Amino acid sequence: AIAVKHVSKQFGETEVLRDISLEVPRGEVTCLIGPSGSGKSTLLRCMAFLEEATSGAIEIEGDPLGFVEGAGGRRRQTPAELRRVRSKVGMVFQQFNLWPHMTALGNVSAALRRVRKLPKAEAEDRAMRQLDKVGLKERAHHYPAQLSGGQQQRVAIARALALDPTIMLFDEPTSALDPELTGEVLNVMRQLASEGMTMVVVTHEIGFAASVGSKVAFLDHGRLLFHDTPETVFAAPREPRLEQFLDTYL
Ligand code: ATP
Ligand code: MG
Repeated sequence: AIAVKHVSKQFGETEVLRDISLEVPRGEVTCLIGPSGSGKSTLLRCMAFLEEATSGAIEIEGDPLGFVEGAGGRRRQTPAELRRVRSKVGMVFQQFNLWPHMTALGNVSAALRRVRKLPKAEAEDRAMRQLDKVGLKERAHHYPAQLSGGQQQRVAIARALALDPTIMLFDEPTSALDPELTGEVLNVMRQLASEGMTMVVVTHEIGFAASVGSKVAFLDHGRLLFHDTPETVFAAPREPRLEQFLDTYL
């Protein structure tokens, strides 16, 4: 489970997130939608502590992320504490960020060797199983330049999954892809959801949000206007801002 409690975020004078609270229970999928600049990426980055909230708190599987309450008040986590909590969170970005000089297998196993300190053979064995899971066993020895965008994104997903996260965060994982390649990536995510992975997915794929999302969260100008079942959020009577957003993306 991941819990966001009264999180606000400012960049200088700009208020990007305003008192956001939401919880994603274990095994549920929250699809985060909203206009450009509404703060979706910032919220996701806060959930992975790639960005520090200005105020509020985030809990990963019940453990605080970034800061802990102690006898002397709030203190920053030690690097080891932070690493332990953060290791439960996997993240996939719009840009796949693969190493161009490494094969698919190399990209996935390098993460296991560096982060998990696994020996080469064991890392490659685990990496191969993850690549198989995303349907890329046959492409394991291809370099990113030899893979389609959809295949590259599936390698990025395999790389995140190899580290055994209990929560997966996706930031517009299909927006950089040609339309005919989005399906294969969404299918991998749909499969992951059906296996019970806890997920937060920023997406403009309204069909995916409606069919896979346990909940849909709608962010507008840094405020969470809805966090409810797709049926409720997509049903009338509609809020004008949501209506306008859906008119653009449906
Ligand atoms: P998009 O759909 O275009 O990806 P988004 O909902 O993900 O948008 P964010 O990237 O979270 O939006 O940005 C929210 C606001 O915060 C925007 O106004 C953006 O300009 C601002 N912002 C984001 N990152 C920074 C930063 N590092 N410094 C200053 N402002 C930032
Ligand atoms: Mg974004």
